[in-house]
Amino acid sequence: MSTIELFTRARHAKELGIKGTEDLTLDWPAVIARKDEIVKSWSTSKNATPGKLGVPVLHGHASFTAPHEISVDGKTHSAEKFVIATGSKPARPRIPGVEFCITSDELIHLKEQPARMVVVGGGFIGLEFGFALAWAGTKVTILQSGPEIAPALDQEIRAILLESAAKAGIAVKTNAKVTRIGSDKTVESEIGGRAEKFSADQVLLATGRPSNVAPLNPDAAKIELDQSAVKINEYLQSVSAPHIYAVGDSAGKRQQSPVAWYEGPIAAHNAIKGNERKVDFSVFPTAIFTIPAIGQVGLTEVEALKRGIKAKANKLPYEYNPAAGVRNETEGMVKVVYEEGTERILGVQVIGAHAEDTIQIAAMAMNGGLKKSQVGAMHYVFPTFGGAIFDTMAS
Ligand SMILES: Cc1cc2nc3c(=O)[nH]c(=O)nc-3n(C[C@H](O)[C@H](O)[C@H](O)COP(=O)(O)OP(=O)(O)OC[C@H]3O[C@@H](n4cnc5c(N)ncnc54)[C@H](O)[C@@H]3O)c2cc1C
Repeated sequence: MSTIELFTRARHAKELGIKGTEDLTLDWPAVIARKDEIVKSWSTSKNATPGKLGVPVLHGHASFTAPHEISVDGKTHSAEKFVIATGSKPARPRIPGVEFCITSDELIHLKEQPARMVVVGGGFIGLEFGFALAWAGTKVTILQSGPEIAPALDQEIRAILLESAAKAGIAVKTNAKVTRIGSDKTVESEIGGRAEKFSADQVLLATGRPSNVAPLNPDAAKIELDQSAVKINEYLQSVSAPHIYAVGDSAGKRQQSPVAWYEGPIAAHNAIKGNERKVDFSVFPTAIFTIPAIGQVGLTEVEALKRGIKAKANKLPYEYNPAAGVRNETEGMVKVVYEEGTERILGVQVIGAHAEDTIQIAAMAMNGGLKKSQVGAMHYVFPTFGGAIFDTMAS
């Protein structure tokens, strides 16, 4: 995503007085090769860490054979405690012709950039890849089964995202039921009672990622599942098998890397020392790497009102942020939701350049229990995108 964001910005550099970038092209194989190198270097250094700490690593497919026994490629090992961290895997809905689709797992290895791509699913993965490929020059159509893309988004943020999708040339179709995918990758669908067909070179299936626990043979260890995830308590402990803990995508619905990094040490601590540490997600910032990106923390205005909180919202379009103006990235908005009277910050949503970073200022303020007006009265560096967070809280 970052490469394509830079590519997109470079192509618009003429507006900043930089000549000669209008005809820039993307070297797709080089982009994929560089991504492979980055992943390899990270996973090599990560994989070396347990060894350095003296922790043996067994390479192979693990599955339980009894509550305290696990088989790794046919060899049995026993342990008092276990931590499950088997991640998630792409859903494969029962649509005729689903075998002709790819998932994000395959997309990131494609040797050729598709000229046309249909994305089945308008959640965060479908949107991120949809935007990236569209800005890279692919003709993208997103088919979303429900009435809205990314249903959890604030509606004003979504409206800006949809304007950006139109600028990127993405066709977004909602209430679209995919009925069949042909071997030539034609996608047949029903939209508002009408049959519609979409031709594509690749069909990306982005319909969610269930937890990947079933291949571990959870029944043998009496592990109760909640849908596909390990059913856990606030100590990350299995509710049915107390010697087993689960973290990251295998444990729940917050499918973000920092969740796995945060939960891993907590589960290990609780497994070894007893249940001393609970997880706390009361302030949990997230981002969607669309172009422009979205950062969110806490409640949206609608969610707060639904909970009966007297919520109000301050909004600041990016065009009033001097850093955005200087860099010609004025598409976006900051929205701060707060409780009337107490000025408690309930949530912040940002869409626009650097949203994935600026949202962290809001998360720190919420974690520290700061009031909206306290943040609004703080000094900050000018001109910066982060300054928009302070300015939005100032009024
Ligand atoms: C396309 C895409 C984009 C994403 N973008 C972001 C992002 O921008 N930011 C973000 O925070 N998160 C992002 N995520 C989510 C993030 O990747 C996951 O939340 C995170 O990797 C979960 O970590 P984990 O350790 O739980 O599982 P994983 O990282 O999936 O690791 C699970 C490991 O367990 C192994 N395993 C599974 N079953 C077995 C078995 N039976 N025996 C032995 N080993 C097994 C697997 O091989 C794998 O190595 C993205 C995910 C996808 C798919």
